[in-house]
Amino acid sequence: MSPKVWIDGKLFEKDQARISVYDHGLLYGDGVFEGLRVYHGKIFEVEKHLDRLFGSARAIRLTPPHGRDELKTAMQETLRASGLTDCYIRLVLTRGVGYLGLNPNRCSGGSTIIIADTIDMYPREMYEKGMSIITATVIRNHPNSCSPRIKSLNYLNNILAKIEAADANVPEAVMLNHEGNVAECSADNIFIVRDGQLQTPGTADGILEGVTRNAILNLAKKLGINAIEKTLQRFDLYVAEECFLTGTAAEVVPVTRIDGRPIGAGVPGPITGKLTEAFSRLVRAG
Ligand code: PMP
Repeated sequence: MSPKVWIDGKLFEKDQARISVYDHGLLYGDGVFEGLRVYHGKIFEVEKHLDRLFGSARAIRLTPPHGRDELKTAMQETLRASGLTDCYIRLVLTRGVGYLGLNPNRCSGGSTIIIADTIDMYPREMYEKGMSIITATVIRNHPNSCSPRIKSLNYLNNILAKIEAADANVPEAVMLNHEGNVAECSADNIFIVRDGQLQTPGTADGILEGVTRNAILNLAKKLGINAIEKTLQRFDLYVAEECFLTGTAAEVVPVTRIDGRPIGAGVPGPITGKLTEAFSRLVRAG
C-alpha cells in the first residue's frame, strides 16, 4: 500500500508526481478541487462531490478535460494502484499550463490530478474529548468576491484563519462573514445545538456547502432531531449547548471551547454523540 498520483492519464509514485511551474493552478490558484473519503474501498458520496466539482469549475469558467465517468474510472484506477481501501482522494482541476500573465484563454485547457493517500486531520483524543477553537479576525471571503461556494485552489483566506488558530495554539478557527455572522471554520462547517435544535449557517451566510454537512442534516431528519439552517452570531456559539464541526477529512469533531469559553457543559454533548455514531454507521454501511 502506497500513495499514488494520477496526472492527466498517467500514474506516478508520490515523489515522482510533477506538474509544470507554469501551471496557473500553481501561479494563481486558478483551479478547483474536491476532497473525498474512501471507506472499505467505496468513495463516499462520489456523485455529490462531482456535482460540486463541476459546479465550481463552471463558476470559474473552466471546462473539465474529463467527464464524470472518466473521473470516476480514474479515481478507481488510482485507488487500485495504491492498494488503499480506507483513505482520502484529492481531485484537482487546474487551468493548466499557461504563461506568466493571467489570461486563462492562453492556458492549455486544464490539468487533472488525482491523489490517493491517507489523511489525519486532528489528534484522536479531540474526537473523544472535544476541541478548542477561536474566532479568527480575518473574515471569510465576501460572496461577491471569490465565493466560498466555489471550492477553488485559492485557500489563502482559510490559511490566514488557520494561522491565527495556530498562533492561539488551537487546531481550528471559526470565520465570520462580511456581515459579522458565523460562516464556517477554515476547512469545516460548523453546527451548534440550541434548545435541543440543531442549527448551522446556510449558503447565504458565505460557506462552502459541505457534503458532510448535508449528510449530517439528512441524518438529523432520520433521527427525528429538529434541524435548521440559520444565520448565527458569535453570541449563538457562546450560548450553545453543543457545537461540532464537519468535513470530509475531519468527519465529525466536537467543539467544547470557543475563544476560551466552555460550550455547554464543556464536554461533547448527546446530540453530537448521536450524530457522530449515525455518521460512522452511514459511512461504514456504504
Ligand atoms: N468548508 C470549507 C472551507 C472546506 O474546505 C470544507 C472541506 N474540507 C468544508 C467546509 C467541508 O466540506 P465537505 O464536508 O464537503 O468536506
